Amino acid sequence: MSKQKVESILSQLDSSPTPRHLVAYLTAKLLQANFVDYSNQEIQNSQSGFIARAGSLVAWKNGKQTSKNGFRIVGAHTDSPGLRIKPNPDGRRFGFNTLQVEIYGSPLLNSWLDRDLGIAGHVVLKSGAIKLFRSVASVARISQLAVHLDREVNERGLILDKHLHLSPAWSSAQKAPSFLTWVAQQTKCTIRDIVQIDAQLFDTHNAAVVGADSSFIASGRLDNQASCWAAISALLESRSGAATQVVALFDHEEVGSESATGAAGPLLEHSLEQIAAVQGISRTGFLETLSNSSCISADNAHAVHHNYPERHDLSHGPIINQGPALKLNSNQRYATSSTSAAMFISACSKAKVKHQVFVSRNNMPCGSTIGPITATRLGIDTVDVGVPQLSMHSAREVCGVNDLISLQLALKAYLN
Ligand code: ZN
Repeated sequence: MSKQKVESILSQLDSSPTPRHLVAYLTAKLLQANFVDYSNQEIQNSQSGFIARAGSLVAWKNGKQTSKNGFRIVGAHTDSPGLRIKPNPDGRRFGFNTLQVEIYGSPLLNSWLDRDLGIAGHVVLKSGAIKLFRSVASVARISQLAVHLDREVNERGLILDKHLHLSPAWSSAQKAPSFLTWVAQQTKCTIRDIVQIDAQLFDTHNAAVVGADSSFIASGRLDNQASCWAAISALLESRSGAATQVVALFDHEEVGSESATGAAGPLLEHSLEQIAAVQGISRTGFLETLSNSSCISADNAHAVHHNYPERHDLSHGPIINQGPALKLNSNQRYATSSTSAAMFISACSKAKVKHQVFVSRNNMPCGSTIGPITATRLGIDTVDVGVPQLSMHSAREVCGVNDLISLQLALKAYLN
């Protein structure tokens, strides 16, 4: 069973170099399970459905008594920090054809060096159609300066100029095709048909189980595609019940969530309102329903790093493979309240999995998640939780197999 789950995690990670690829992968799974696609049609009272909007997705299973039992929502984000290709990317320098990139979010820049990189994204065509693409092979590389030319690098640390030092080289031919020509070949479109390109780099190294005891998963985008896997697979496996079960996956968390499809946008609120309306719940009934609802916001947490224990509050630092972390911050960087924490703890005990707590050091500000944003927008009691991981925002991160499976079981127990 857990072997199957691990395979399904790896397959999702390898299929999803961008948020839109992730949404395409997950909606295919939902369609297989007879969820109805309401992305381009009015919602009807079917048993289950989904709305996909660019790199974001809301999926649900209708409850039998939603007005009384509310919505049970699991939220996560689909985007990860990285390097996006700029609109006029082509350059030629000292024998290399290069691409210009823009930094998205806050990646660990060094982690993008000396990797075999692919390019993935989508094009918008004249017809308005959108076509996804990804390079099959590795096509680009950002090379680090040799130690002989940067003698103090191991003492002083690596310093990268964000504008000058991150351009990948992607060929050396004298008359190489432009980026646009290459994308046209990848998408089997003509240059004239392509109106806009949205592309980013990704590490072509597949996700893998690592460790002498096979207890870790290493991959790009674990933050936060690991939580997306746990959320959607929990929804697919859960039985429908009294409450309406909802999974909301948002793009643009890494850049503040303020966008049409981000957690600060109207996507979830509008979806819930429509789901309630087709269940015959009035506007006032809907507002009442929100007060009976709850939300688990799942986003990875910092596991205690074996080489840097001083960076953690060791009484409140999650240890890898000892269970998902409940994230607390009394300054409301996390949405967890006493009651929502109790709700998650009871879901963990129902699922028979362990949990841990995360509170950051007082002299080290913690990150934030979509939790406080959805809680603020909808007034729903929300808990922030997440799988402990290392190398957060690296091009290749690592988390524990047991933690991820435990999170999935806890989310399923909560939805049920
Ligand atoms: Zn995250």
